[in-house]
Amino acid sequence: MSEKKGIAILGSTGSIGTQALEVIEAYPDLFDLQVITAQSNADLLIQQALKFQPNVVVIGDESKYEAVKQALIDTDISVYTGAESLAQVVEFHEVHTVLTALVGYAGLKPTIAAIRASKTIALANKETLVVAGELITKLAKEYGVNIYPVDSEHSAIFQCLVGEFHNKIEKIYLTASGGPFRGFTTEQLEKVTLQQALKHPNWSMGAKITIDSASLMNKGLEVIEAKWLFNLKPEQIDVIVHPQSIIHSLVQFEDGSMKAQMGLPDMKLPIQFALTYPDRLKTDFPRFNFLDYPQLTFEQPDRKTFRNLDLAYQAMEMEGTAACILNAANEVTVDAFLKEQISFLDIAKINEETLKQCPSIMKPEYEDFVQSDAEARKIALSLIQK
Ligand code: NAD
Ligand code: MG
Repeated sequence: MSEKKGIAILGSTGSIGTQALEVIEAYPDLFDLQVITAQSNADLLIQQALKFQPNVVVIGDESKYEAVKQALIDTDISVYTGAESLAQVVEFHEVHTVLTALVGYAGLKPTIAAIRASKTIALANKETLVVAGELITKLAKEYGVNIYPVDSEHSAIFQCLVGEFHNKIEKIYLTASGGPFRGFTTEQLEKVTLQQALKHPNWSMGAKITIDSASLMNKGLEVIEAKWLFNLKPEQIDVIVHPQSIIHSLVQFEDGSMKAQMGLPDMKLPIQFALTYPDRLKTDFPRFNFLDYPQLTFEQPDRKTFRNLDLAYQAMEMEGTAACILNAANEVTVDAFLKEQISFLDIAKINEETLKQCPSIMKPEYEDFVQSDAEARKIALSLIQK
């Protein structure tokens, strides 16, 4: 067996996926790329396959299967298609770590499959923990699987906890940039456009998470993600707006001491740390310079104007499938906003109404998440059509 770590990247054509490939390319002696997958960007998937020569590629969209198959016909690369294949390819013996860089609820099934196959998880797909955090953490424990966070805030917390795992956390602070509409009033938000919402001040990311950042839903999802990753109670998780995005998050311990993890915003660092923990690899990323940032500032998030953050806390308190319902509603409303079918403020309005209307199933099993997800999508869609 090779000494290299076998990696599967689910969602290799996305923002996280392409940056993960840069990391893998930078350390050819450490990683062995086994599997890459994409939903519909067949051209980029083919390019990546030809360059990195993984053993397997999966194209989710079945109508693109022939094109990918043909393009890779002269290689040894196996090509599969469909959502079922995603859950199967993570199980290959050669795969050590699965990077879940796909977006949305679609991450749930393959993540469960990867845990059941005892693969280490590098988790970017926060929606999986939001939807089914209890199930996922229970399974991970059962199979002795480590879940390493890729999300920058959670990686920050995780980095602060190295060497402290036996010490109790009093609370954590997740930092938030505030997004492009920080400081906006409801009246101002009534007029914002899709183009404005897609312009994040500090990070370049996929469309869905960029809209989630503008609406503070992303921070809400991250609060729930943190609850499960670090086994915290809702009241132990606080959010503080920090527009410079230099402090990526903080932990406060029981003696009052606080640890923060800092650096210039660059997702390659948390991606890399999740793939190499506990080691830190030398990089040539630009270094932080204090004099470029003479002031790091902090403010309260405006939860009245940006309702989504409170909705996430609400869903967390409601337990059962409530967070799954909120996530499903949000996937539907963000999609509708991206298609310019609803306004920016409608996102939180419809999310809230869906959370109210859709019954949460207590003590959920996998099938209950599937049911709540489908039901919430139906309700959100009907609210959009109104
Ligand atoms: P993206 O939209 O850029 O890429 C998504 C990837 O998932 C693509 O490769 C796409 O082909 C694949 N995909 C989309 N729908 C799919 C489906 N139904 N089934 C299978 N694959 C599908 O998204 P991104 O910004 O890279 O984000 C990926 C995940 O990482 C999200 O959960 C996001 O919240 C999280 N995350 C992203 C960032 C970031 O900087 N981009 C930071 C923190 C966390
Ligand atoms: Mg984040």
